[in-house]
Amino acid sequence: MTDLAVDSEFTFELVACRWAEREWPPDGPRADAVLVARQVGTRKRRWDTLVVEADPAGLRGRDLLGPDELDSDLLHVVRHAPAEWAWYRDALPHPGYPWRYVREAIHRAAARDAVETRRRGNRIELRRVAPYPDWISRVVAIENKPDLDASAARALASQIRYDVDCGLLDEVWVATRATDESVPAVLLEEFPVEAGVLAVDPLSGTAEVLWHPSRLSPDDESEDRRTVIAERAYGRGWRSYVDTMRPDCRHFELTEVGGAFVPHCAAKGRCQTNAECAGSCRSFEPEPPGWRTRGWPIEGGPGKGIRSLLERRRERVRGREREEE
Ligand code: SF4
Repeated sequence: MTDLAVDSEFTFELVACRWAEREWPPDGPRADAVLVARQVGTRKRRWDTLVVEADPAGLRGRDLLGPDELDSDLLHVVRHAPAEWAWYRDALPHPGYPWRYVREAIHRAAARDAVETRRRGNRIELRRVAPYPDWISRVVAIENKPDLDASAARALASQIRYDVDCGLLDEVWVATRATDESVPAVLLEEFPVEAGVLAVDPLSGTAEVLWHPSRLSPDDESEDRRTVIAERAYGRGWRSYVDTMRPDCRHFELTEVGGAFVPHCAAKGRCQTNAECAGSCRSFEPEPPGWRTRGWPIEGGPGKGIRSLLERRRERVRGREREEE
């Protein structure tokens, strides 16, 4: 595989996510379970790579509430759902918005088996299926900038400053491509000193710490927002990129780079970005029906196989992160 395989930020980001999944933390032994997601965050800021360090027992407790993320409305219900049946208005604190929205959230939570509900007359009662655990240890953001030159470093500096100051994160990193030459110190000086800098070699899937970050102190009042962010990471992971691409195109392939499966386009002869791999792509061609004959329509063609391969990998990692020491 030539270096051409990692000529986009998108591919670099996938390799960085896989590296984090395998090797996190970069500067010591792994003490907690690790969840890695890409492109999750808040309305103001989405992070390229988000690492949530989690208590393995807490994570197993979280699994009892289903595999999908809980948004803030669902969290309000699930966190306060009582152990014994109770009318929802007695059980849940007033959320500061109309109760009808709470009822909608209760129905959504019940549809996912995250709480139980029943009707007593015209009252809705609920009880929990499991307590919402304290599972989040640390939330860490990594900004990926493979080609770090002076203007890229300058453009990034204010974003990194925001990340350091936002009160939501425990640590902030910038990941850049490892090169034979050392990264000029003047570039690193553009970033706040609290942010760490990693040099990732996308071909070998290894990384080296160039600058150690400071531990930040998230604001106490940001706990709910941190939980929402961690929930997004929990539900989405980083392999869901395939959902917005065209694995059903005959040219879509997965190739292994730096230990990660990344999309590769046979028509373009390179790794495509997720933006260009869409129905509007001029080279898009549906996979021929003949490719689907084995097991089709139950198992589908190669496109569907790619999805399930990524899903199996995700499940394997999920299982490993929950194992007891
Ligand atoms: S030809 Fe276009 S749609 Fe097909 S895999 Fe390549 S980039 Fe994606």
